[in-house]
Amino acid sequence: CGIVGYVGEEHAKERIIDGLKRLEYRGYDSAGIALPINGKIEIRKHVGEIKNLEKIIGDAAYDSSVGIGHTRWATHGAPSDLNAHPHANGDNSIAIVHNGIIENYQEIKEWLIRDYGVKFKSETDSEVIAHLIGIYYDGDLLQAVNRAVEQMRGAYAVAAIAAAEPDKIVAVRKDAPLVAGIGKGFNFIASDIPALLKYVREVYLIENNETVVLTKDGIKIYNEDGKVVKRDVFHVTWDA
Ligand code: GLU
Repeated sequence: CGIVGYVGEEHAKERIIDGLKRLEYRGYDSAGIALPINGKIEIRKHVGEIKNLEKIIGDAAYDSSVGIGHTRWATHGAPSDLNAHPHANGDNSIAIVHNGIIENYQEIKEWLIRDYGVKFKSETDSEVIAHLIGIYYDGDLLQAVNRAVEQMRGAYAVAAIAAAEPDKIVAVRKDAPLVAGIGKGFNFIASDIPALLKYVREVYLIENNETVVLTKDGIKIYNEDGKVVKRDVFHVTWDA
């Protein structure tokens, strides 16, 4: 339902949770966050309100300046802690959040189990995305996301992080909204502009079948053919 990702120099956790709260009006049944910390990806997620997520995070610092968060509106798999996003691959080296529906997830899931011995932890359609990126990952998250997307049918906005590339977020969309927020020394990705207005007024509206790479210093948008796209900055003049 809602996606927020931050990459910069400040605490990612606070900014992501703040952004998720601003998307609460869309409705959701669970919430979660993933942050790369010391070569590992930490995931915290909980069914119910964002307050529940904040409770299980407690006073833990989760000191990271990169992360992705999600509010879920379940389509495949009941609302539960395990089905909440983010989802990770087997060794937790990749984590993703997903809005939308992967229509051919059952087919991909069977293939991953049969050919790669993948063990699934949730009943969601979304979990296949994390495993797909995981099997294609060889140190280049952009390349792995692009290969995974070639196999996916349906509607999606996805944001992904890799433990081995803790300075970036890669996001992609098809038939589900996605915007990139342009900061100074930080950047955001989100499913909707209101999530970001506390921090940015300038955004790129990401178009169908585009992939975005965010670091603290820049946002690069690629089209389906892997070519860099030049997008005009969209200046938001209204308030949420
Ligand atoms: N289809 C996914 C799920 O059920 C994502 C739902 C959403 O967009 O929040 O987990």
